[in-house]
Amino acid sequence: MSKQTLSFQAEVAQLLKLVTHSLYSNPDIFLRELVSNASDACDKLRFEGLNNAELYEDAPNLEVRVSFDKAAKTLTITDNGIGLSQIEAVEHLGTIAKSGTRDFMAKLSGDQKNDAQLIGQFGVGFYSGFIVADKITVESRRAGLPAAEGVRWSSAGTGDFEVEMIERKERGTSVILHLKDDATEYLNTWKLKSIISKYSDHISLPILMKKEAWKEGENGQPGEMVTSDEWETVNQAAALWTRARKDITPEQYDEFYKQISYDNQAPLATTHNRVEGATEYTQLLYIPAKAPMDLFNRDKAAGVKLYVKRVFIMDDAQALLPVYLRFVKGVVDSSDLPLNVSRELLQESRAVKAIREGCTKRVLSMIEDLAANEPEKFASFYAEFGAVLKEGLGEDFANRERLAKLLRFASSTTDTTSVGFADYKARMKEGQDAIYYITADTQAAGKNSPQLEIFRKKGIEVLLMTDRVDEWALNYLHEFDGTPLQSVAKGAVDLGKLQDEDEKKAAEEAQTQFKPVLDKLKEALKDKASDVRATTRLVDSPACLVVQDGDMSTQLARMLKQAGQAAPEVKPILEINAQHPLVKKLEGSEHFDDLAHILFDQALLAEGGLPDDPAAYVKRVNALLL
Ligand code: ADP
Repeated sequence: MSKQTLSFQAEVAQLLKLVTHSLYSNPDIFLRELVSNASDACDKLRFEGLNNAELYEDAPNLEVRVSFDKAAKTLTITDNGIGLSQIEAVEHLGTIAKSGTRDFMAKLSGDQKNDAQLIGQFGVGFYSGFIVADKITVESRRAGLPAAEGVRWSSAGTGDFEVEMIERKERGTSVILHLKDDATEYLNTWKLKSIISKYSDHISLPILMKKEAWKEGENGQPGEMVTSDEWETVNQAAALWTRARKDITPEQYDEFYKQISYDNQAPLATTHNRVEGATEYTQLLYIPAKAPMDLFNRDKAAGVKLYVKRVFIMDDAQALLPVYLRFVKGVVDSSDLPLNVSRELLQESRAVKAIREGCTKRVLSMIEDLAANEPEKFASFYAEFGAVLKEGLGEDFANRERLAKLLRFASSTTDTTSVGFADYKARMKEGQDAIYYITADTQAAGKNSPQLEIFRKKGIEVLLMTDRVDEWALNYLHEFDGTPLQSVAKGAVDLGKLQDEDEKKAAEEAQTQFKPVLDKLKEALKDKASDVRATTRLVDSPACLVVQDGDMSTQLARMLKQAGQAAPEVKPILEINAQHPLVKKLEGSEHFDDLAHILFDQALLAEGGLPDDPAAYVKRVNALLL
């Protein structure tokens, strides 16, 4: 086939422009990206080779070679991995297939500074070669194809690229970078070695470079370093997680994390263990410092890669951790799974179940360790991932108690989200027999809600639950360490021993004495309230809304509706404070109906809601003001 000139897909052209304009601040990363592609190509050969040993041809040792030619100003990265057929070269190097890169493209704002920061977080793969090269030539032959079916691809990184058939004896790919004039610093063994050891040390393949030797100068001329024809391995060539913990520096752990996660920040916590016993595996797991933008998407790809006996099997192996730990990144390498394991098989495998339990325990211990020993890190973890952790209450019954201990809330007496159930219990009043909480849209709304008045008066702390997931999660947690959890906005208020006899009696009397007014209110508000009753939970406010035990709170119903989701119609109970002057005014008032509606709507406003008919509310209030 003769030479063809083809155009890049529009997105590639856009990406290329960005790469060359935005990434010059850290040009070294091109080598990391190209070595990583070479290593992926070798992984693919290993994987396909499981069923077809002939693909190895006569070169069973997979490796990457990095070399340069000073005179020609070229730098070449060669692998003997799976290689590319001509069609693959056109498709893979002319279009953007990777969904991550497409997501990235979608996030671009057009603002150069912002985009440059983003691009650093993504890893732009092959095209990063154009940071340092004004032309790239790729020569390749796919494993198993005849030598005559090699391909040469080349491009100057502008609008188009060329492809042609070539003869290529060696299997695999050579990426030849024709370096720009200002990038000739990469024609230097020391420079390349230092980049490789920084970014690619953990690559499990050997990376080879030609040895250098010092050549004495002749006749008084200065000497120089010259490259020999002998190759040497310049990286550790052992997958990081297979090495002993003591031989790995924190920087190496962090760098590995950045590569597998595309995060540019170091992780918050790391755990690395070899588990031996009935199922044997190695886990290297990380908690990121920051939550991703799509943290709350429960379908998002999981962050753990699965290897079997060091052979890469799949990215985002969801079966390895429960969904609520979807923020964890890392690697699991199992010795028990078959190499041809499929996603379906993973779901059913007993070994996977054991790995999943083991990894879950590990992650929880990691978080517990932060909570116990590194309070600042724990606070930052909790701010990022606390809400997701709560999903675990409903998802992971086996670890519910461990999870409950890790939860933190704000409370009516603290401003920070730092109160655990255990702290709360330690501060409970004598005679208090429940952990009280309120769900609210915001901390301020929770703190100021009328339902809290009696608790404030009696100096009883109430936990403020302001995450959307809280109410759902609390459905699965009815007690903590033997003490029941009680919403202060659900059911009748029962302060038990905290209420003295006089108070109880006054409440009962109010209920009977007040019955005619209550009945009238019930009638007036029959479309809005399921019941109207007198309460002792109010001190300063005339009224508040509560729901039956077991009903969805009005706050949650409101949040769901705002999010466009279906929520059951909950008719709340209106509770009124018989001692309040406004309520006393009700009896015999000629504006009874208006007052009744105003009481109801104000109770709704007080908890952050809106009256069904705001205009009618305003009219009623105005009529009374006149
Ligand atoms: P990716 O993140 O998918 O590697 P790249 O832009 O780096 O994105 O590469 C695009 C595709 O080109 C890869 O998915 C792979 O199919 C192919 N490719 C790149 N480098 C090599 C290589 N050295 N050997 C074989 N295929 C390669």
